[in-house]
Amino acid sequence: MKRIGVLTSGGDSPGMNAAIRAVARCAIDKGMEVYGIQRGYEGLLDGEIRQLDRSSVGDILHRGGTMLKTARSERFKTPEGIARAAEMLRTFGIEGLVVIGGDGSMRGGVELARKGITVMCLPGTIDNDLQYTDFTIGFDTAVNTVLDAISKLRDTSSAHDRTTVVEVMGRHCGDIALYAGLAGGAEAILVPEVPSDVNEICRHIIEGRNRGKLHSIIIKAEGAGISSEELTRTIEQKTGKETRLVVLSYLQRGGSPTLRDRNLATLTAARAVDLLWEDSSSKAVGEISGEIVATDLEEALNLPREFDREMYDLISVLSK
Ligand code: ADP
Repeated sequence: MKRIGVLTSGGDSPGMNAAIRAVARCAIDKGMEVYGIQRGYEGLLDGEIRQLDRSSVGDILHRGGTMLKTARSERFKTPEGIARAAEMLRTFGIEGLVVIGGDGSMRGGVELARKGITVMCLPGTIDNDLQYTDFTIGFDTAVNTVLDAISKLRDTSSAHDRTTVVEVMGRHCGDIALYAGLAGGAEAILVPEVPSDVNEICRHIIEGRNRGKLHSIIIKAEGAGISSEELTRTIEQKTGKETRLVVLSYLQRGGSPTLRDRNLATLTAARAVDLLWEDSSSKAVGEISGEIVATDLEEALNLPREFDREMYDLISVLSK
């Protein structure tokens, strides 16, 4: 393979830049030409494609966001859009494509693979909702941002003897709430995967207070059934203590990537380039039990997502 492309698509995540850098430099090292595609599939349709050299990916390793920009593209999703995107890649002589993005971006990658393009997908999303990898690029940074927020909120919650509900990202996957909740010593977490009993949570808060707890932190993934406002109101009414809602929102997407995210991005990107160089079939590249693992792209997309119930149950044990 002589010429490859790289794009970032869907929600941005810290570490995408580290992946772009590694794709470009590893591929150039093998003698391949690398083209950066701006604004994901949307930019691909518009032909926003330019060649990258070693220096064009300089000074980005430590930055959040993505130097290639990202976008959502409704146009691309149509059969005409997919055909046009594949045609655009052929016009530029691009035989292999590295797609850095989440579940939706991967579906787009599968469609392009069906059109004869070799596609390597890297898990670029803070959500950790892809089963083919233990961790996604950006998850560690996002969870550390949440953890930092919890520590700060704990100080002020204690001072005021208050309960704080922290809403974190995760429409379908509760991993940010789960990992931050365990590491941050939350009293309870609410996730989309497990139904929660608000009465039970209120009882838990009151029991904790009776034992001398000064504050309670409740972490709720955005997709966990009940609205965050309603949850906050209900807790305040039932526990009789001031309860505040903090929505962390896009804060969780930004920031300099952590060591784990930079190295996950770099190592998966390096493997993706090796696979393209070897003329492998389309793959999703992730990390399983500490090893970099490539899974057949369509197979990877169809793996059912598993939730770590043991870790979830541990949170209530630890907060008793
Ligand atoms: P993420 O990759 O972060 O999950 P999205 O779900 O928004 O983000 O997907 C990013 C883009 O991938 C979409 O805007 C669309 O262009 C493309 N995409 C998503 N789902 C499909 C699909 N089923 N078929 C083809 N392309 C898709």
